[in-house]
Amino acid sequence: MQNFTKVERLSPKKAPALERLAHFGEIYSLFDGVKAPTQAERCVQCGNPYCSALGCPLRNHIPYWLKAIAENDARAAFALSNENSPFPEILGRICPQDRLCEGACTLGADNFGAVSIGAIETAITESGFLQGATIDYPKINSKKRVALIGSGPASLSAATFLARAGVAAEIFEKDDRAGGLLTYGIPNFKLDKQVVARRFEFLTKAGVKLHLGVEAGKDITMGDLTRRFEAIFVGVGARKSVKAGVENENAKGVIGAIDLLSAVQAELFDPTRKNPYDLKDKKVVVIGGGDTAMDCVRTALRLGARNATCVYRRGESAMPGGKKEYINAKEEGAEFVFNRAPSKIVVKNGAAIGIECEETKVADGARGKLIVVSGSAVTIDADIVVTALGFAHQDKSWLEGVKLAENGAIIVDENGRSSDKRIYAGGDAARGASLAVNAAADGKKAAFAIIRALLA
Ligand SMILES: Cc1cc2nc3c(=O)[nH]c(=O)nc-3n(C[C@H](O)[C@H](O)[C@H](O)COP(=O)(O)OP(=O)(O)OC[C@H]3O[C@@H](n4cnc5c(N)ncnc54)[C@H](O)[C@@H]3O)c2cc1C
Ligand code: SF4
Repeated sequence: MQNFTKVERLSPKKAPALERLAHFGEIYSLFDGVKAPTQAERCVQCGNPYCSALGCPLRNHIPYWLKAIAENDARAAFALSNENSPFPEILGRICPQDRLCEGACTLGADNFGAVSIGAIETAITESGFLQGATIDYPKINSKKRVALIGSGPASLSAATFLARAGVAAEIFEKDDRAGGLLTYGIPNFKLDKQVVARRFEFLTKAGVKLHLGVEAGKDITMGDLTRRFEAIFVGVGARKSVKAGVENENAKGVIGAIDLLSAVQAELFDPTRKNPYDLKDKKVVVIGGGDTAMDCVRTALRLGARNATCVYRRGESAMPGGKKEYINAKEEGAEFVFNRAPSKIVVKNGAAIGIECEETKVADGARGKLIVVSGSAVTIDADIVVTALGFAHQDKSWLEGVKLAENGAIIVDENGRSSDKRIYAGGDAARGASLAVNAAADGKKAAFAIIRALLA
């Protein structure tokens, strides 16, 4: 270990920008059987590993599996990584590591370049699968049953740990496919959908029942669920698009980010489900500066947009998303306008032809109060405007008596338990729009609390 003075940090190879714009396939290759151990060997094996304790919401035992793979013990690395994380090969691909584990790595702080934790994590499990490793579950051996509402990373994680404890779990998902935003949000070029489907295949083989096209509150009531199940986990996400609050926001040509991304993914699954948004040769402006905005500009470019411009009201350093996705977007030709806040969608005959933006200044610090500079409005031409301004909580009145915060979030205690002691919640439904790894950590915590409550 500790070869960081001799070996520099590497990221996995990515396809050249022009090549990757021609399709929606993943852009990164996997670290091979030489790169993964060599890169893992850079780890210092800190006594108090900040990557795990401070950086990773799941508290993954990162130095353990780095050491195992560095010693070419692929089986141990696979087992260690999959023991603590419900789907390491998914999170290794999509976590914004610069803000999490890699951002906390001692080598990064010392300017040697953080260990490439995410890429190694993905490679350990993917090469394990290639070599025939599987995720084994015991038989369902408990008569207690748990219902999970929604099938995003929060519920996928909860179902994984319930199945491991032999507890019968049934997932109720309103969409036609499982995975939540892992499936119909995060684009395929960041996360191949087969990778998500594979985890659900493991679970259904283990005895977890998956009911697709079933909406809680409509097709099944909480009364039905509480009669049939001993505990319920609510992982319904936060899906209400935040509006820009500007004039003409409902004009033709103004699209919500999720509407665009899910329509594109639906067509990738089934070419007969044609994406209704034609972006070919269009001037596309995306409002927002987070991960969703990066996904939208990159999607627009793959759909053949003439140009794709991201307009963000703060500066580059205040962008809330992962750095690597911003760099990827720039490489692919996305343009960026910083410190401009939209004040109006400019329309002609009812359709968007541009957005008017005003210059902003920040009172103090990159994320301080924004001040709009009066008289600074300019118009950016646009045929299509995509709003990627975040997500709020959707209506949850069907939860029948479960206490909600003023903003609609489900109020839970430190074990993910709601005001109704049989109902647990986690992920975006409880914390607001966040990250897949936070949803996974919430689902895991709630599953352990449910197991303690049911099997005590
Ligand atoms: C475009 C986009 C890109 C993102 N990129 C990243 C990224 O790169 N990295 C990252 O870590 N995070 C990313 N995120 C955030 C991440 O996807 C979410 O934080 C995470 O998916 C939340 O998980 P969840 O399980 O709480 O909810 P969701 O993933 O939203 O899943 C909720 C599920 O519940 C279902 N549902 C809702 N209501 C009902 C009901 N009444 N009955 C039955 N089913 C119901 C929904 O159909 C959905 O399938 C991104 C988000 C978006 C929108
Ligand atoms: S789950 Fe995310 S934060 Fe944790 S080790 Fe993996 S990539 Fe890093």
